[in-house]
Amino acid sequence: MPAALLEKIDLPALEKGWVWLVGAGPGDPGLITALGLKALAQADVILHDALVDDRLLALSDAEKIYAGKRAGVKSCKQDEISDTLIRLAKEGKRVLRLKGGDPFVFGRGGEEAQALVAAGVPFRIVPGITAGIGGLAYAGIPVTHRDTNHAVTFITGHGIDGKLTKLDWAAVSHGAPTLVLYMARKFAGEISQALIAAGRPGDQPAAVVINAARTDQQVIVTTLGGLATIEPGTAPSIIVIGENVSLARELDWLAKAGPA
Ligand code: SAH
Repeated sequence: MPAALLEKIDLPALEKGWVWLVGAGPGDPGLITALGLKALAQADVILHDALVDDRLLALSDAEKIYAGKRAGVKSCKQDEISDTLIRLAKEGKRVLRLKGGDPFVFGRGGEEAQALVAAGVPFRIVPGITAGIGGLAYAGIPVTHRDTNHAVTFITGHGIDGKLTKLDWAAVSHGAPTLVLYMARKFAGEISQALIAAGRPGDQPAAVVINAARTDQQVIVTTLGGLATIEPGTAPSIIVIGENVSLARELDWLAKAGPA
């Protein structure tokens, strides 16, 4: 860890009795922020998700508690996670809640922060690079580009009940030129059909970025219609639909740089 460099920036300290809700970025451990590294160096205890890279966790001697949930596993444990954060902070620990991507993007960070407010526990939010932006960048797909899209919509494919998100899919179809979908692989076929039925062209470029910014990143470039044939899978995946996907071939920098 570049400790000397970190000391040159006047970063706040993770104090006893505090919780820091930190985004670790989408995969590549180099994508964590300086504040995130500082928290790793100072924490007494880390509660982390399944999506956090082991190489980051290995940087810290803190006690590690796995608090992950994966697709298909019922999210019944959110209260337990919040209660654990509150208990550890009240015991006077320096608590790091480390989440994949950004803690406030489809990551329940908002709910945990609300629980901390209710319990009177002081906390700091440390944003991270979200998979729907940084993960696409690792696939050579700019989330916006002046030639292709002036807007982007971020969507979660499934809601709290694990079913397809209740959205006005026709309105989504006519909305932003680029759609970025988290947790949507299971419903790729249904989403593709709904968007096409509402008038979005089936030949619009689309991609599935699996394990983005990880050593095993896989990019499937297809079309909106082609999303219907994507096999379901449990690896974290981002779906992106829009003309900006067509830049992936030209901008595939990772193939030259080598994996993270
Ligand atoms: N807070 C996270 C999102 C958590 S929800 C963030 O900002 O990135 C979990 C979903 O995020 C996964 O189901 C997947 O859709 C997406 N995701 C997270 N990391 C990913 C990765 N490395 N590659 C592809 N998708 C990822």
